[in-house]
Amino acid sequence: MTPFRLLILAALFYIGYRLLRSLLLEQFKKKSSQEKKDSQVQDVLVEDPVCHTLIPKKQAIRLRKDGHTYYFCSEKCCDLFTENSEEKE
Ligand SMILES: [Zn+2]
Repeated sequence: MTPFRLLILAALFYIGYRLLRSLLLEQFKKKSSQEKKDSQVQDVLVEDPVCHTLIPKKQAIRLRKDGHTYYFCSEKCCDLFTENSEEKE
């Protein structure tokens, strides 16, 4: 084997390695972007009726009242909401 052939062989190995690596990386990227999409679907933003902050639904404090579900950023807002609605009634 001549040194020139060895060089070509090394280059081929290198190209093959790069190709495999980029393919793996692409697959990994696809997978992670899909996971991102899934978590975005779960992270629906809801509006706090008291301070009008948008909060992810799964982090929000829920209150069921008169068949409606209300979402709050904190227990403080939830308390304020129940106090205000009780005053009105
Ligand atoms: Zn709030």
